[in-house]
Amino acid sequence: KQVLLRIDNLVKHFPIKAGVFKRIVAWVKAVDGVSFNVYKGETVGLVGESGCGKTTVGMTLLRLYEPTSGRIIVDGEDTTHYFLPSWKAKQYVKKNYIDKFKEEGFVPKDDVDKKYFEIFTKSGEEALVNYLTNDLQEKRLQFRRDIQIVFQDPYSSLNPRMRVKNILAEGPIAHGMITKSQAIDRVGKALEEVGIHKNHMYRFPHEFSGGQRQRIGIARALLMNPKLIIADEAVAALDVSIRSQVINLMMDLQKEHNLTYLFISHDLSLIKYISSRVVVMYLGKVVETALKKDLFDEPLHPYTKALMSAIPVPNPEFKKQRIILQGDVPSPVNPPSGCPFHPRCPVAKPICSKEKPELREIKPEHFVACHFPGSL
Ligand code: SF4
Repeated sequence: KQVLLRIDNLVKHFPIKAGVFKRIVAWVKAVDGVSFNVYKGETVGLVGESGCGKTTVGMTLLRLYEPTSGRIIVDGEDTTHYFLPSWKAKQYVKKNYIDKFKEEGFVPKDDVDKKYFEIFTKSGEEALVNYLTNDLQEKRLQFRRDIQIVFQDPYSSLNPRMRVKNILAEGPIAHGMITKSQAIDRVGKALEEVGIHKNHMYRFPHEFSGGQRQRIGIARALLMNPKLIIADEAVAALDVSIRSQVINLMMDLQKEHNLTYLFISHDLSLIKYISSRVVVMYLGKVVETALKKDLFDEPLHPYTKALMSAIPVPNPEFKKQRIILQGDVPSPVNPPSGCPFHPRCPVAKPICSKEKPELREIKPEHFVACHFPGSL
């Protein structure tokens, strides 16, 4: 299996400012040290209650938020510094390239390294710094193509004043992927792929139903030829009868184009249907991650088990025990010490409030952050 995306200890804290001088008085620890992999061609379900930080993970991956710390590695390439403001990018380049050249001596590993060395020796340090910081611009654009999102709300994610043809052609033209004259052909093909007749490309978004608008959102993502599509509650706003059609379409497109999805949802039944692997988050942290079958057959973290006990079963005669959690999710401003789940955990022991459990591999590919996995 080839890793497409590696999130390594990702942290995103938001400041709370107050007073006349807008001083920072506290931090919301929305994402607090999240790590997981997404392999090529799979669908990872990122699940948790609202406020657990799953959407912030998605937004930080897209770089709509800058990470506070941690690394985002796409196809083996560390992309974390791609979106730094230019003065910070220069600092990064100096520290990671120039200082290394000077300290360690320079041993070029490939043609790219050789090119850097050539600029450094011929034109000097400043020229290489400028070259590398300009290079980030191209990398940023590539990143914007590679990672696409399908939003929850198809009503507000399409510009109501633009015709669908222009909405869909805008991105690929701006990125130089197609010319204006190719737009009609490419947009038509993309629409047909998502089950909308190509003649409808001249309509405005309001002339489509909610399900059709979500299909247009998917076509927009597809046209960028992405490596990863993040679907953030992508079907939550749709009528139940339309939901399965959109989900099935996404699964068909995945097979056809070998797409990779990160599916963010609070809906465990949906995650069970669509995912190959599942990551469970609680209060900004990953508490459990496993292959879908392992997670649903034998959840090991008490929180996952409680979540699963709330999934409705189709057969009313099959009674399963519902685990009711006490209290609300604590505030991410002051998360509990030790295990963040301990104030609500039915099987918590004294150590749980003192020591933070690390994410450990309990069974092959089954990771759990709990001192007593499987005890509930
Ligand atoms: Fe419950 Fe303790 Fe496990 Fe946390 S570490 S989930 S409190 S048993």
